[in-house]
Amino acid sequence: MAENPPTTVGGEPMRTGDTYNCAAEVIGLELDILGKEVNFPIGVGKGQAGLADIVPLARTLCAKIIDVVLENIRSDGGRIPCCKGCAACCSRYLVPLSVPEALRLKEEISAAPGYRRESMSRACLLAARRILSQEPPKPFMGQPAQVSPAGPVDLDLMSDWYAGLKLACPFLDNNLCTIYEQRPLACREYFVKGSAGVCKGQRGIAEVVEMPVQLPNALAQLASELEGTSVEAVILPLALVWCEDNPARAERTWPAAMMVKRFVEVVKAMARKDSTAVVA
Ligand code: SF4
Ligand code: SF4
Repeated sequence: MAENPPTTVGGEPMRTGDTYNCAAEVIGLELDILGKEVNFPIGVGKGQAGLADIVPLARTLCAKIIDVVLENIRSDGGRIPCCKGCAACCSRYLVPLSVPEALRLKEEISAAPGYRRESMSRACLLAARRILSQEPPKPFMGQPAQVSPAGPVDLDLMSDWYAGLKLACPFLDNNLCTIYEQRPLACREYFVKGSAGVCKGQRGIAEVVEMPVQLPNALAQLASELEGTSVEAVILPLALVWCEDNPARAERTWPAAMMVKRFVEVVKAMARKDSTAVVA
């Protein structure tokens, strides 16, 4: 049975009863995730959309892929210890955001009620100040708010440097994520299989769960193609600073249908690549 469009990009949902209004287009995304078919209809408005507008779609798709992956692990007897209040991972890892996510987070923080907006902005800016007061690795000198181009070696170097700062995520409070609904895709996708103690430096066995499609990478590629830039990532605590430095990038728009179709192609290509790698 066809599902309702989980999200609409480029306008309000345009459905009447069970029939899509002719003003809306529905784009189908079918993925093979670990041998399970994931069907995903996407409602698309006729209007323009900015990079931030595609993020809710990526979050919904991310949740669907995670469900399949975790169910697969559990049905094989694997244990996923990740749960609310378990947050050692939030205290040590660099969280990269794709450009659309950075722009979306800025919008969401700006739209939050006054007291929440102020506390989130303050936490983020304090962390940013602390990061920017340190000397980043040489490849990042001159562009401290931006990791670009994001080759794997560069990200490893950046991650090691960041871990050395011993900065907990500015959005972590009492072991809870204060932006849970808006948290980055990298956080959503991060699970380990095995023992939670390993994340706290205790003995045990745990491995990071590989996602067949990494949605932050898909968004980063989409943004890079649309904007004609290299593939970029923004460190989470620097997201607000970065957005302030790049106001024009929040204003650019593209036809929503074109943006969604390209995103679907990117995601499908990543899923195909992953299944080929598994077969090989
Ligand atoms: S990754 Fe580790 S620290 Fe983070 S929620 Fe999972 S078990 Fe807990
Ligand atoms: S955004 Fe939330 S989930 Fe992600 S590292 Fe920060 S506290 Fe943890």
